[in-house]
Amino acid sequence: MPRRPPTPGARKRPRRPAAQPGSPTARGEAVDPRLLLPADFELGAPSLAHAPPDSGREVAFAGRSNAGKSSVLNRLTGQRALARTSRTPGRTQHLNFFRVDDAARLVDLPGYGYARADLETRDAWQVHVEAYLSARQALVGVVLVMDVRHPFQPFDEQLIAWAGSSAIPLLVLLNKADKLGHGARADTLRSATERLRDTPTAEAILFSALRGMGAETALRRVRQWLCLPETPDGAASSGPQLVTGQDPDA
Ligand code: GDP
Repeated sequence: MPRRPPTPGARKRPRRPAAQPGSPTARGEAVDPRLLLPADFELGAPSLAHAPPDSGREVAFAGRSNAGKSSVLNRLTGQRALARTSRTPGRTQHLNFFRVDDAARLVDLPGYGYARADLETRDAWQVHVEAYLSARQALVGVVLVMDVRHPFQPFDEQLIAWAGSSAIPLLVLLNKADKLGHGARADTLRSATERLRDTPTAEAILFSALRGMGAETALRRVRQWLCLPETPDGAASSGPQLVTGQDPDA
């Protein structure tokens, strides 16, 4: 069929600009791009013995497979290729180290599999992750990614208990919050906060790697742990403080 010539004066439908990392997306939240944590892949360690020197400050990312850990890392770093690096075959069970600067790293811990994960996978996870968590001096905080619809799985509970007993700060991201309505989100946040009451070093926030919800709060927290400037103008915030999870739509 021949193409219809454009009608003179007809309004062209504006083309939607490609979403930039950190920019507002449809129904999403703006994240100041200056807060992002650009990071370069440093190395994938099959065990703690292969990790970079235990110096500087490290924030580790943990979560059950499919909770959205890779998407969270992409969102916080503004880099799509970052989490892909961790997914390179052979590296999925590695501790993957990403350099933010000379004294700061992000560490992508292997995703904990489903309950039916084969024993070998579970063993690898336990050996390497537990060794890392218990021995790493550089570790200053852990980000635990949970699917907001299936929070507090056994592995999550294990990690929360560990964080409580070792007094390591823990930020729990209730990810995929875009999948819930406003009321359900608020209820989940309330019960998560209640559940973490006995773990003073832990806090939960609603998060959506897809939409950017909660990203700014998470970025400020991770920056604080890594001793990076917390505000775009470079000023550090005054002293440590716990951020209570807030429903950004509230
Ligand atoms: P990982 O296995 O924990 O690294 O999980 P991925 O980052 O690969 O995410 C698993 C699936 O969940 C993918 O299909 C993602 O697109 C999806 N996902 C991740 N984060 C979100 C989110 O915030 N909202 C929604 N709706 N989907 C998400």
